[in-house]
Amino acid sequence: MYAERINSLPPYLFAEIDRKKREVENRGVDIIDMGVGDPDLPTPSHIVDALCKAAAEPENQRYPTYEGMFAFREAVADWYRRRKHVSLDPDSEVLTLIGSKEGIAHSTFAFLNTGDIALVPDPAYPVYKNAVIMAGSIPFSMPLTEDNGFKPDFERIDAEIAKNAKLMFLNYPNNPTAATADEEFFKDVVDFAYEHDIMVLHDNPYSELTFDGYEAPSFLRVSGAKEVGIEFNSLSKTYNMTGWRIGFAVGNPEILNGLRLVKTNIDSGTFQAIQVAGIAALTGSQDCIRANVAVYRARRDALAAGLKSAGIEVSKPKATFYLWVRVPDGYTSMQFSMSLLERAGVVVTPGIGFGEYGEGFVRFSLCLDIERIKEACERIIDIL
Ligand SMILES: *Cc1c(COP(=O)(O)O)cnc(C)c1O
Repeated sequence: MYAERINSLPPYLFAEIDRKKREVENRGVDIIDMGVGDPDLPTPSHIVDALCKAAAEPENQRYPTYEGMFAFREAVADWYRRRKHVSLDPDSEVLTLIGSKEGIAHSTFAFLNTGDIALVPDPAYPVYKNAVIMAGSIPFSMPLTEDNGFKPDFERIDAEIAKNAKLMFLNYPNNPTAATADEEFFKDVVDFAYEHDIMVLHDNPYSELTFDGYEAPSFLRVSGAKEVGIEFNSLSKTYNMTGWRIGFAVGNPEILNGLRLVKTNIDSGTFQAIQVAGIAALTGSQDCIRANVAVYRARRDALAAGLKSAGIEVSKPKATFYLWVRVPDGYTSMQFSMSLLERAGVVVTPGIGFGEYGEGFVRFSLCLDIERIKEACERIIDIL
């Protein structure tokens, strides 16, 4: 019944966890969910107010333009200049998206032919690989391993694969490993991309969720990057707006235009009132980001300390709201996740669900109250 592009998607490995969660919940267990990467904190009120006002304006109720309001794209360019030290032409180098996931998935349709090769990190946000498969193309895994700081080792990519690869997905600060990248790494990326004529699609939704003085660079900060690639970013994690569906892509005008051409035939742009609220987010006071980061930092520290008490060593990440934690000896990531759920009522995400190189790890999310995090740690201490 289903098309080949659906049938060839990898199995959804989190289904087993979802089923187990319902079963444990039905037993009346108080579940602590550290699985989802979805901010529990509210969208700042000045952004909500801007939406309410803008939604009432008749001119915002019509079809938006495909590429997004100029004022929104201008706000993005200004924000990138201030926060990322990257200059962008709002007219040709910014494209509004219905969340960055939408742009990530649609970009494969713009650039990949049937049978083309695309380089995707493993472990990774599953959309990269699955969007490549849905475009009829072949995903080639770049392993992210601990000994390499969870970054791809370009030297180890087979010459024939590198020669034939059309594009590459990257994501730093990284989900699920919480690894970060510096400009030196991005320089290597640009060199590799030039050498093999590979388009770079960098996904940067955690660019503002950084701790302890660390600042996450934009990929576009590196010289030559704008010639080879684009960067996806989003208001979802920065301003607690996952449900709103607004993000953007910035960088190479030709690449952005390819994505725009796909989008003009699939969606009709982002609701203008949401773009107006997005402008309020990007141009208003950025104190809300600092407040968010302070909350996540306290949660991160509480979780790292709690896991340490349970005998699980974990280094504190410099960015994102995840901890990527090695499972104790004798467990697979799925077994350990099932055990935490069954015996402690704590949901974490098994690393295998992010790819074969995610095996041996689980991902803890910090999108819940610090008291619940402490409670989860108490329960884990009790069972280990
Ligand atoms: C959350 C997330 C996204 C999706 O962001 P939206 O803008 O809400 O679609 C994209 N990439 C990664 C790695 C994420 O973790």
